[in-house]
Amino acid sequence: MLEIRELSKTYPNGVQALKRVNLSIPKGMFGLLGPNGAGKSSLMRTLATLQEADSGSATFGNIDVLKDKDQVRRILGYLPQDFGVYPKTSAEDLLNHFAVLKGLTERKQRAEVVQGLLQQVNLYEQRKRKLGTFSGGMRQRFGIAQALLGDPKLVIVDEPTAGLDPEERNRFLNLLAEIGEQVVVILSTHIVEDVTDLCPRMAIICAGQVLLTGEPLQAIQTLNNRVWRKVVSKDSLERYRRDHTVLSSRLVGGRPVINIYSEAQPDEGFEQIEPDLEDVYFHRLREFERAA
Ligand code: ADP
Repeated sequence: MLEIRELSKTYPNGVQALKRVNLSIPKGMFGLLGPNGAGKSSLMRTLATLQEADSGSATFGNIDVLKDKDQVRRILGYLPQDFGVYPKTSAEDLLNHFAVLKGLTERKQRAEVVQGLLQQVNLYEQRKRKLGTFSGGMRQRFGIAQALLGDPKLVIVDEPTAGLDPEERNRFLNLLAEIGEQVVVILSTHIVEDVTDLCPRMAIICAGQVLLTGEPLQAIQTLNNRVWRKVVSKDSLERYRRDHTVLSSRLVGGRPVINIYSEAQPDEGFEQIEPDLEDVYFHRLREFERAA
């Protein structure tokens, strides 16, 4: 279990990226969901020992994450948001190099681990190819292979699906889902479906604050009978936004379809729909915006 208590961070430019963050993160996949600028990377980098917090604590089992950095690094697998590769190096060579850095000094054992990971992430056939020729999805899968070196107990992946096409994204998420349930895996993302598909537990953060944490299914249930949908005209969209809690609007066949939060039927033409995690997400964000 990873326990984060009252974690705060203000950057030298005055931006308060984390405001007394409290989270209990058990084994399994944990989704950290929030819009751009919410503080996800700041939290991930802090847990990955790459930057200091101002105050608060984080413990993983008996490891003090903020102090015992060497111990954290031994059990950590990290895929940063801006994971760069050496474009002229082959997948196999670079993974082998990372394995040396991880302390896998015995050549034969190292080769086995590297081959095994390349197979696991489905890059074995492409292992001799230069990383510069890889697609975004292949690069991210390579990133996961690198993160899994040394059997980490804490795996952190920061916005891994941004920029992947749907097929690559699916492949990547399936790979993440296969990482053991005996490991804490934190998936930070601004894409709601990433969390819906994979994560039995989650948190929503915005402006450095935790707005919600728990199980997605439970959170969704709290919106039962309270989400309504209607196809509206473009002209009336602003009026609906003013008079109602519009959770989301999207175009279907060129016409706006809006989801509204309301305890009673807003007006004729609205049909009640089954809420989903996206409704939960936008409901929390709207409430937060209103309180701000
Ligand atoms: P997210 O990962 O959710 O997009 P970040 O943690 O990257 O959010 O950013 C949170 C806030 O902190 C943003 O307002 C961002 O501009 C700011 N920020 C991030 N890194 C730095 C930094 N090194 N120096 C100053 N401000 C930063």
